[in-house]
Amino acid sequence: MNESLIKHVTQKNLTYFIETYGCQMNAHESEKIAGVLENIGYTYTDGKNKADLIIFNTCCVREHAEARLYGNVGALREHKKNVAGAVIAVCGCMMQQQDAAKKLAVRFPFVDIVFGTNHIQQLEGMLSDVLLGGGRRVLRIDEDETVIEGLPALRNSLSSAYVNIIYGCNNFCTYCVVPFVRGRERSRRSADILSEINALCDQGITEVTLLGQNVNSYGKGTDIFFPELLNRIDEETGVKRLRFMTSHPKDLTDELIGCYGRIGCLCEHIHLPVQSGSDRILERMNRRYTKAHYLSLVERLRDRVPDIAVTTDIIVGFPGESDADFADTIDLVNSVKFDAAYTFAYSKRALTKAAGMPGQIDKQTKKERLKKLNSLVGACMLDNNKAYIGKEVEVLVENSSKRNENEISGRTRTAKTVNFEGSAHEIGWYVSVKIDKVKAHTLHGVRAGEE
Ligand code: SF4
Repeated sequence: MNESLIKHVTQKNLTYFIETYGCQMNAHESEKIAGVLENIGYTYTDGKNKADLIIFNTCCVREHAEARLYGNVGALREHKKNVAGAVIAVCGCMMQQQDAAKKLAVRFPFVDIVFGTNHIQQLEGMLSDVLLGGGRRVLRIDEDETVIEGLPALRNSLSSAYVNIIYGCNNFCTYCVVPFVRGRERSRRSADILSEINALCDQGITEVTLLGQNVNSYGKGTDIFFPELLNRIDEETGVKRLRFMTSHPKDLTDELIGCYGRIGCLCEHIHLPVQSGSDRILERMNRRYTKAHYLSLVERLRDRVPDIAVTTDIIVGFPGESDADFADTIDLVNSVKFDAAYTFAYSKRALTKAAGMPGQIDKQTKKERLKKLNSLVGACMLDNNKAYIGKEVEVLVENSSKRNENEISGRTRTAKTVNFEGSAHEIGWYVSVKIDKVKAHTLHGVRAGEE
């Protein structure tokens, strides 16, 4: 620990604010950044306007991410004038693209620190350089694919936690920038994962989501593979609910399917991105499975656990997608009847192969296809949810409701959101709820025994 830095931060009562963009990986990385900052002595503020340290944790997966970031960072020029000694830092996967990082540093000279996804453990040193080094700027974007263990994390939830098990991706789907910014797959040692989960259980966490770009590829270069990791977590930790995301259909083995219904803590939900129902488009996407294979996976999952919830990601308007290809996607959605789908209109990402492919689809066609797809997905969700009416489900309470102060909300093992009457002190509890009404995205119920 840097004693001079801690003294400086605590004597001045310095505060921090983190703005996070993107996926759960980024959200969890922000928890780690917060853990590092709190260890140094910073305290969190939700008043961005007064914060002594503002960190942008960026994402490059979403469309126009760079333009949006520039707008947000540019708006902080005045902040540096208003808050004496304020420090601005930008990190995350967009900053892992060296060109983007350098461009940002040149365009916004008031940004003090720019660092990539693998440099969180160096944040203390970077802050020391800036705060105690006479206002030096720090740019840390070199490639470093070492897995860092032991970083503190300030978790946002009292009952659920994300745990990284694998970093990076080897798949190079032709639309995706992740392998370029997060590097090749690196699995954590199982002993480190188990000890992190046990420490979380000691703090009262009962639900864990294992995180990675492709979790079911876990294990290369370590001691065990993914199904065995699930077994060990069930046997050697106190986790009551275990989830994972995201998984790749090509790596969903029979052994892993066999874990459902056998491993007690493994929740009856799988997020299995399909992306398209057309074999031609799946090939252009470099997904390495077919529509028939995907359907057979869902069938085998449902053979093991008939009520398993299946959610997915779908892209419409991929370069070259014809009406017939899109019809194949609609047909697949009709066959699977997903419990939810994150749907996207294809948009170009720098560095990816698909960005240069012929047959780019016009905006209006993408919009119409997305609308048709969303309306079908919504209808499937509502239909699936109707099967819950009259059933009793176990809900892990996560939040108080934003809309109704007498209501709380939580999730079932199948990841359905349930709203019911209760109060905030029940967050983290498991409550039996009988479902009485459903919408496409939520269920509503009353406590079992009180209906
Ligand atoms: S598997 Fe996922 S993270 Fe990896 S390249 Fe494909 S879409 Fe991107």
